[in-house]
Amino acid sequence: MIYDLHAHSNASDGVLAPRELVQAAQIAGVGALALTDHDTTAGLAEAAVAAAAVGIELVAGVEISATAAGRTVHVLGLGIDPSAPALAALLAAQSAARFERASGINTALMRAGLRDCWEVALACAQGGTLGRPHFARALVATGQVPDEKLAFKRYLGAGCVGDISCDWVPLAAAVAAIGAAGGIACLAHPCKYKLTRTRLLALLEQFCDAGGGGLEVRSGQQAEPETRDLCIIARKFGLAASCGSDFHDPAQPWQALGRAWPLPVEATPVWSRHALGAGPN
Ligand code: MN
Ligand code: MN
Ligand code: MN
Repeated sequence: MIYDLHAHSNASDGVLAPRELVQAAQIAGVGALALTDHDTTAGLAEAAVAAAAVGIELVAGVEISATAAGRTVHVLGLGIDPSAPALAALLAAQSAARFERASGINTALMRAGLRDCWEVALACAQGGTLGRPHFARALVATGQVPDEKLAFKRYLGAGCVGDISCDWVPLAAAVAAIGAAGGIACLAHPCKYKLTRTRLLALLEQFCDAGGGGLEVRSGQQAEPETRDLCIIARKFGLAASCGSDFHDPAQPWQALGRAWPLPVEATPVWSRHALGAGPN
């Protein structure tokens, strides 16, 4: 069975509604799908209904932005109970921080000479959590940039005017809230942080001390040697291995559903270590 334990719906910055995402996963041959929207569990109930209808296993998940050693990292919570009070409280605080940041992004873009695209970005988010991809889509929709990749390159990517920092929760708080909700915390896409080896190992030490249990050793946009290396690192730290496409949009084939499969044979899969459940009750 194909596991894809990292995917986004339009409850955050994905383009498909939760039910459409589940249908796309089934068509891609995925047997177990985790919906891991950024700092929200709002799509889980709809996804669970759709998953039951098409006969795939839905893993209730979330991707929490957190601060560790002055940088932003992403922590996946897999097999969570979305109604757990500590997790719900943390996500409510995060969504307030996200809204503040979104407003800062819009202001920064206008200062850089672009036209106000707040309303369009809000419309792109369709009531979901606002993030940089929504501003990328809004800049394209208002004819200010030809495509989303350029929007990131010129205005929203790391170091650009719209790359506004945000006060995310500390790493330990994110891991603790996931644990309190019955889930296993997995550090998402470790290669994306572009850390030196020393810094990555230091981050993982901190992550393990906080109670983190898994490492996403295979991600949609990742080369094979990196996956093998991450397997070795996971083993060294006693972390279980997770895999997920980080799917957002059918137009981005490098993050296609089911693409981050299989796990290398030497990996200890996260689902063999921790019951991931079948979605919210
Ligand atoms: Mn995203
Ligand atoms: Mn991420
Ligand atoms: Mn993601």
